[in-house]
Amino acid sequence: MSAPTTQEVHGGVPQERRLVTSIPGPRSTALQARKVNAVSAGVGVTLPVYITKAGGGVLVDVDGNHLIDMGSGIAVTTVGNANPMVVAGVQQQVADFTHTCFMVTPYSGYVEVCEALNRLTPGDHEKRSALFNSGAEAVENAVKIARAYTKRQAVVVVEHGYHGRTNLTMALTAKSMPYKHSFGPFAPEVYRVPTSYPFRDRGLKGPEMAQIAISRIEKEIGAGNVAAIIIEPIQGEGGFIVPGDGYYAAMAQFATDNGIVFVADEIQSGFCRTGDWFASEYEGVVPDLITTAKGIAGGMPLAGVTGRAEMMDAVHGGGLGGTYGGNPVACAAALGALRWMEEVDANGLAKAIEAVMLPRLRSMAERFPAIGDVRGRGAMIAIELVKPGTIDPDADLAAALNKHCHMHGVVTLTTGTYGNVFRFLPPLTMPVPLLEEALTILEAGFESLAT
Ligand SMILES: *Cc1c(COP(=O)(O)O)cnc(C)c1O
Repeated sequence: MSAPTTQEVHGGVPQERRLVTSIPGPRSTALQARKVNAVSAGVGVTLPVYITKAGGGVLVDVDGNHLIDMGSGIAVTTVGNANPMVVAGVQQQVADFTHTCFMVTPYSGYVEVCEALNRLTPGDHEKRSALFNSGAEAVENAVKIARAYTKRQAVVVVEHGYHGRTNLTMALTAKSMPYKHSFGPFAPEVYRVPTSYPFRDRGLKGPEMAQIAISRIEKEIGAGNVAAIIIEPIQGEGGFIVPGDGYYAAMAQFATDNGIVFVADEIQSGFCRTGDWFASEYEGVVPDLITTAKGIAGGMPLAGVTGRAEMMDAVHGGGLGGTYGGNPVACAAALGALRWMEEVDANGLAKAIEAVMLPRLRSMAERFPAIGDVRGRGAMIAIELVKPGTIDPDADLAAALNKHCHMHGVVTLTTGTYGNVFRFLPPLTMPVPLLEEALTILEAGFESLAT
């Protein structure tokens, strides 16, 4: 199949915002009532509109509302929700076979996805990959690999980091509510050191923050005890924090100098999201291991760990795996998604989104002093909201703006340790006029809410 046209990539979904009921509409409201009675209260819902169809930059709900998708299901449907290359691969694979378990009787799709990951991730050293179901599972396996390779135990993570919700990854994740609260005890041998958060570091630059973090590792853990340092090159759930120049590279260099496995958690920032295949490339960092998930397979559950062959092969046979890891349908989806990204120059699409968003948001920041910071790269952009004239977080304003956008048919997400960051993760198939419309609605929200 050759690369689909812009039209085809929209999957027959009209690329317009169209509200025919209030949000949520009556059908969604009825479904939400059933959800409350059927689904654990622990599973939250940001915006209870129930979706029936999606494509391009639009989500269609059960009431017939067409909403602009500024979230991509949290950076997952980067290639759009109806990308013909994903659809065709999945349909063919489902018709052929759905599962054998790669560890029992393998199939080529798994190997092809690993070959693609080995080729597309930073660095031209020899690499191996292994596939899993979720981001958290990938991170856990990266820790297993690093410990097996180094024969050390300590794992270093950074403030505001997010790595998942399983027991080990809860320990790696910084934020208590809602991710960790009441769920301990957590896994041992996890240590947290400062990150670089330019908006809040009171003038300290990236390399200075790295020096503080490194000194903490040396004094409090001992570099020789550390198996892995795990860092997101741009922190996602922490608040789309772009570290100060040099921080990330300095942490990677410290790891290399001390026999520590440097793990880039690119689960949110990977696959052309930031205008590079992987956000590590921006700082010229070649991670030892890289964890991927979210954007890899157009919405099918798939995750990977990719890294140096000698590290990946240090694990005994049978030490890695899982029943569903690298499921053939998910692999077919990934092969379609990755091919589309290569053929259409998805990084160019991400940069085009940045070129629309950053100037617009910066001019809003001049009008509305509640916007303390505008940051991000490619199609991973955020604004941080504060009480004007301070850096005190304004989570209430973020929540109110979020509600405003939702009511007006724009699916937006907040994020951040302080809940005060408004983040944008549009699919790369988002038509520019819709993107501009979403920003206009946001701007109107500031006009009515931010005094
Ligand atoms: C989402 C995310 C994870 C966890 O992925 P799941 O698929 O939800 O388990 C881990 N790390 C980062 C950086 C993420 O954004």
